Amino acid sequence: MNDRIVIIGGGIIGLLCGRELLHRGYAVTILEGGTLQGSASTGNAGVISPGHPPIPTPEVAAKAFRMLLDRRSPLYIPPRASLPLLRWLLAFRRACRPAHFKMISQVLDQFSMRSRELFDPLVQEAPHALDASGFAEIVRTKAGQQHLAMERDRLEQSGFEVELQDGDTFREQDPGWDPSVRAALIHRHGIVTRPDLLIQHLSDQFTAEGGQLRTGCQVIRVHRQRNRFESVELNGGERVEADGLLLAAGIWTTRLVKDLGIRIPMQAAKGYHVMIEMKSPPRRAALLQEACVVVNPMGDQVRIAGTLELSGINDRMVTRRVNMLQEAARDYVPGIDEAPRRSEWNGLRPCTADGLPAIGLVPGMSNAFVATGHAMMGVTLGPGTAELVAGCIEGQALPNWAEPMNASRFA
Ligand SMILES: Cc1cc2nc3c(=O)[nH]c(=O)nc-3n(C[C@H](O)[C@H](O)[C@H](O)COP(=O)(O)OP(=O)(O)OC[C@H]3O[C@@H](n4cnc5c(N)ncnc54)[C@H](O)[C@@H]3O)c2cc1C
Repeated sequence: MNDRIVIIGGGIIGLLCGRELLHRGYAVTILEGGTLQGSASTGNAGVISPGHPPIPTPEVAAKAFRMLLDRRSPLYIPPRASLPLLRWLLAFRRACRPAHFKMISQVLDQFSMRSRELFDPLVQEAPHALDASGFAEIVRTKAGQQHLAMERDRLEQSGFEVELQDGDTFREQDPGWDPSVRAALIHRHGIVTRPDLLIQHLSDQFTAEGGQLRTGCQVIRVHRQRNRFESVELNGGERVEADGLLLAAGIWTTRLVKDLGIRIPMQAAKGYHVMIEMKSPPRRAALLQEACVVVNPMGDQVRIAGTLELSGINDRMVTRRVNMLQEAARDYVPGIDEAPRRSEWNGLRPCTADGLPAIGLVPGMSNAFVATGHAMMGVTLGPGTAELVAGCIEGQALPNWAEPMNASRFA
């Protein structure tokens, strides 16, 4: 097989799909507009969390109005006049219904379980970037404790390996956490990653195995002849031709896919991280459940990541929201709010309104494919996405369980 596939986007999805296609014998070129470092794929919280619930849930629907008005809420929607946002919010509201939530949770559980299996060889290959000893989800309140017990039951029923510990047991192994932490759910199936090192490893491997990776190549247009993709046009005017196209450009896929005559409506959900220095940080990465923030020790620094802000496609740093991260973590980690900050970052999660990624053949096209919309779970679902995409490019239909993620639902 020597079909040439061009992939737009060198984030986690583009790189993992490129790797899979290379292993299946395709000649693969990845075109990345930036440098590979700096997107959501390198700035994320670094927690591979199979079984993580989707963004639209019945609980979110109940809180949505309050969140809309509360600038300190982890999920925040600054008021702005935007018809696409309004349409997206209405579809999101429908997706929060219990029946839809149940359906997408089942799909994502199965998908993340498969993806977790596919991470095993990568963990062997890149132990400096991936640590498979699990992560914790911790709480300080009684309500939080009840939530963890329910999460344990839900995850166990879906076949995930979890263990509920009381605060004392948890702190015996990891004394960096505050005595007010009441309970911890250890996600034993989880993987903690250094996202920058993971992206570096994947890009190094990709080129070592014969893939072509071109950075600084912004695709400005996708050209087609009726239902066949023909070439992409770069910012300098160069055209790159191929036998097949994969759009894996995160939130920017929304614009590129319009050249192929369809719409995949997504909103950018901005998140932030700060890197801080601490003398005795916690050992294990943890999701601070009530604060909706992740604390992840990385080398000699600690990353605090979180917040979800639907403010459009931009990289504006809102100081108040960046500061919220350290403030939110201070009740869980003594002294964390006073630790010196080394850097701050923001990036965009690509979010569909129905809470599912968009994967497969671009409707109406014969040789153009898409893989996007992974929201809060792009790293977690990456290897599974690559397997599904490669199957589609080889001419297979998506398996039945994955059909709700079919990009054709937007036709
Ligand atoms: C704060 C935060 C925390 C997160 N934490 C986690 C977590 O713990 N676990 C998890 O699983 N997920 C997490 N996520 C989500 C995850 O980061 C995303 O789902 C994932 O990175 C999406 O990957 P992607 O490859 O689709 O998009 P991106 O990472 O956005 O990559 C797309 C790439 O395409 C390139 N591109 C765009 N347009 C063009 C063009 N026209 N031409 C060429 N190149 C182009 C961009 O430069 C970019 O490099 C988090 C996200 C954020 C923001």
